[in-house]
Amino acid sequence: MTTLSNKTAIVTGASSGIGKAIAKNLADEGANVVLAARRSEKLKELAEEVHSEYGVQTNVIETDVTKREEMENLVQQTVEQFGSIDIFVNNAGVMLLSFLKNDHVDEWEQMVDVNIKGVLFGIHAALPEMLKQETGHIINVSSVAGHEVFPSSTVYSATKYAVRALSMGMEKELSNSGVRVTNVSPGAVDTELTDHITDGEVLDMFKDRKMEPLEAEDIARSVTYAVTQPSYVNVNEVIVRPMHKR
Ligand code: NDP
Repeated sequence: MTTLSNKTAIVTGASSGIGKAIAKNLADEGANVVLAARRSEKLKELAEEVHSEYGVQTNVIETDVTKREEMENLVQQTVEQFGSIDIFVNNAGVMLLSFLKNDHVDEWEQMVDVNIKGVLFGIHAALPEMLKQETGHIINVSSVAGHEVFPSSTVYSATKYAVRALSMGMEKELSNSGVRVTNVSPGAVDTELTDHITDGEVLDMFKDRKMEPLEAEDIARSVTYAVTQPSYVNVNEVIVRPMHKR
């Protein structure tokens, strides 16, 4: 395992859930972390916590991943402050599950904007720097719903299949560039993700669900595993599902 001391990681969607846990885990391994999301107050609290607990440097950059210039600024500011960008975690995402017949077209658009365009803007902003450096690691957070389509996950799954397609293409295109790519596909994790669902039929369906979800930390450990491997090891795909209760 390699150490992350003197490395710099950007994490999008670091204001809650999986992104927050990834940022803490990377900092625990010694990485300086740049925290990005829209809720900057939550990011500031996390930055203070991470700095006092792990002694690494932090920065908070309020960023909407659907805005290309804001993603460009995120990377530019990071390179100016730290001199390089070693890890970019494309984690921000929304899961507005709904049935197609209920026609939540605004939510479809939001998922495409955040989950696909947001990831593309992250690649657009970070990849040229990493190619210049001839080293770097991009983590794309997809989902088990990027491997299978569930009732009401049709559009969400389409966005997460797209994330996986991006990861698979990047992994091949970049295999001799020094830039590594990891696609992370979590199963159900206990976060704020389901709080934004508005389709009444989906909410009713969720009431009867008896699955014990994973913790955000369970996913964060898999990211840390991928980025701490020796530089010739490219961990391309990680799927982490909860066990069903016996
Ligand atoms: P949370 O809702 O807890 O976190 C989502 C994060 O995304 C927040 O930090 C939010 O920050 C950020 N975000 C949303 N929209 C934007 C935007 N426009 N610009 C910048 N940041 C944005 O959910 P999770 O932690 O669970 O989700 C993280 C990732 O994991 C997502 O990609 C999700 O699809 C994926 N995933 C989650 C699973 C689960 O069961 N929880 C399972 C499989 C995959 P803010 O609102 O402050 O901008």
